[in-house]
Amino acid sequence: MSFEINESCGVFGIYAPGEDVAKLTYYALYALQHRGQESAGIAVSDGREVLLLKDMGMVSQVFSERDLLNLKGHMAMGHVRYSTTGSSFWENAQPVQVPSRVGSVLVAHNGNLVNTDALRNKLKAEGVRFRTTSDTEVIALMLARSQAPDIVGAVHEVIPQLIGAYSLAIMTEEKLIGIRDPYGIRPLCVGSYMGGHALASESCGLDIIGAEYLREIQPGEMAVFDKDGLDFQRIVEPRKPSLCIFEFIYFARPDSIMYDTYLYHARKHMGMSLADEGAVEADVVMPIPDTGVPAAIGYSEAAGIPFGEGLIKNRYVGRTFIQPTQAIRQLGIRLKLNPIIRDIQGKRLVVVDDSIVRGNTTKEIIKMLREAGAKEVHMRISSPPDKYPCFYGIDTAIRKELIASSRKVEEIRKFIGADTLHYLSIDNLVSATRRPREDFCMACFDGDYPVPVPDDLKMAKGRLEDGKVGIKRS
Ligand code: SF4
Repeated sequence: MSFEINESCGVFGIYAPGEDVAKLTYYALYALQHRGQESAGIAVSDGREVLLLKDMGMVSQVFSERDLLNLKGHMAMGHVRYSTTGSSFWENAQPVQVPSRVGSVLVAHNGNLVNTDALRNKLKAEGVRFRTTSDTEVIALMLARSQAPDIVGAVHEVIPQLIGAYSLAIMTEEKLIGIRDPYGIRPLCVGSYMGGHALASESCGLDIIGAEYLREIQPGEMAVFDKDGLDFQRIVEPRKPSLCIFEFIYFARPDSIMYDTYLYHARKHMGMSLADEGAVEADVVMPIPDTGVPAAIGYSEAAGIPFGEGLIKNRYVGRTFIQPTQAIRQLGIRLKLNPIIRDIQGKRLVVVDDSIVRGNTTKEIIKMLREAGAKEVHMRISSPPDKYPCFYGIDTAIRKELIASSRKVEEIRKFIGADTLHYLSIDNLVSATRRPREDFCMACFDGDYPVPVPDDLKMAKGRLEDGKVGIKRS
């Protein structure tokens, strides 16, 4: 369920002499805001010095018009963050900036390393001190301490030492670099803009500034942007491609393109298959907004049952830093969703959502629908049961909190209070992506982690149960 899974981060970078790169970055981050609402940062370079502004909060809260006017240069990078490693405080906001022999090194990261502790301990043994608790600072410090003659050399030296999921934007006074890990777990793509170039976690970050989408950075590849243009270089040998399947199901915006497919179309297709697999007589198909919408449209079309929006999302809830009072907290899901009672009363509803994590939110929604007079509630989920936690940058839950890790579908149905419950099969999920299963990480469903997770990470942060891993994100 989209209210229970939090994306990790979004990155953006642009090299465009003569353009207002700070403002372009601001708008790109605005488009990528769904990937993280905890903090935002923009760094700009004019070739001689780098200026960085970052703070806690959403993009519209962090930057003012005047701030952007002061960020002058021809190259910029930006980041929106949801913390998955490291706590939620200012120092952990990104980009992370550290000084080096040859100037500044700035790093913005989407993903999670699984060997952070080993890398950090090595640096500590060399006398390095840390200001943050994030794995991004470890990467930045490794790059800054490299004896290579320039940042490209430093990247070639450092990146092969990283294990895990990383889509990175790196900037110095002179160059901007985009890098994707050898498995391509997190997305990163490149576009052209007014004689220059840009990179973004998702193509919607390019669209919003009018950049033309060129292609994805391939697993194990880096893209270097500087005065000579754009250059792609192999940085590490690519491994089995393992794009996170949840980018297709929910995380990324539906108007983004991944693996040459609009995610909207893939999600609609998931809904169509769901209608085949989980057919039921009903009066209306309604989504849990917003992420359930394309699959609900697909379900409605395939089943011939009218589509209706029975639940309206409060679009500006976002992340609030004001603690709710007890009375407000008791409103629970009402803070996020409000039912249109007239469209629900006496109706048999098919309710489409992207996933169920702990099950508590789904239970609350179904209770709300019944209180609004729904006659039947048939829950349809456009992904398979979510049984295993993520080690690669997504804040889901520890294993024992994942309701599908210990309960069968019928038990989950009873817990959430639905009349019927159906999850999309893995086969039909894969078919909706138009790519082979091998091209994805599906560890949430099958426990098959493409990048081996070190035992010490499982033991240190996980709570082992029945031999399976579990991890609590900070
Ligand atoms: Fe995505 Fe799950 Fe794999 Fe994490 S473990 S990358 S959330 S499929």
